[in-house]
Amino acid sequence: MDYFEGVRPRPEIDRLMRDTDPEYEWRRVPEDFHGPGNPDLSHIKGLVWRRGDEVVVNEDRPFFPDLDAMPLPLHHLLPLDKYRIPMIKGPYTFIVTSRGCTAGCRYCIKHVSYQYSIRLRSARSIVDEIKVLKELGIHNIHMYADLFTVNRDQVMEMCDLLLTEDVKIKWTCNSRVDYVDKELLEMMARAGNWVISWGIESANEQILKRARKGTTADRARESLTYARQAGIKNWGTSSSACPARLRKPSRRPSTLPRACRWISRCSTSPRRTLGRRSSST
Ligand code: SF4
Repeated sequence: MDYFEGVRPRPEIDRLMRDTDPEYEWRRVPEDFHGPGNPDLSHIKGLVWRRGDEVVVNEDRPFFPDLDAMPLPLHHLLPLDKYRIPMIKGPYTFIVTSRGCTAGCRYCIKHVSYQYSIRLRSARSIVDEIKVLKELGIHNIHMYADLFTVNRDQVMEMCDLLLTEDVKIKWTCNSRVDYVDKELLEMMARAGNWVISWGIESANEQILKRARKGTTADRARESLTYARQAGIKNWGTSSSACPARLRKPSRRPSTLPRACRWISRCSTSPRRTLGRRSSST
């Protein structure tokens, strides 16, 4: 598969960084990266660039192995008072808690961005960042991750730190119905979690199977019920154009668990069955 077929006829795209952490250290990139002319950029890992009419794909750039080694974002430089989201009064912002996901949903873009790697921040580092945000007047945070509950121990420890250090914060996150349990959800609720966005996709077993969702409608009902009982509101997401649905639409209605308070439908490309990187890093 030629991942860059879309780049070739678009001369306005002359540099493209692929498959890497977005915090790639641009300051290490040589001056001529942005300059005129056609310098040799073959040494910059992860770069796609033009050499005359040729589109050159450089070797892979390894992921940052240790997310904790990155400095905390300089939140105070951002116009935090301008960030708004429906349903939340006042400003809010995001915290990245992990990168990657062990699941293999067929339609997922995660396979392109972080492949099958999982990297976690420590609970200590996450809570330290939350405290910085609290001092800046932020009391609503979204825990931004491919799959927030990808590692139960990390989430439990984070919640424990929030509770023992009396950090009062309201937060939201995403999850999969088979990556939680009753105890974890109760702990999350006590530590300030009030909404979970669940990737449910469908209650139709055939669609779930074809999408390689790796879970069942019964498990969704069970986990959402636990969350609701813990005091967490459920937001279900359903992919209306996942490949399984388009290829052979089911006659049975695709209902989502009634425990969902909100449901949003999103659309993924029916062509998106994504591959691995060309070489390991
Ligand atoms: S659980 Fe979410 S992040 Fe993980 S593979 Fe499925 S859609 Fe992607």
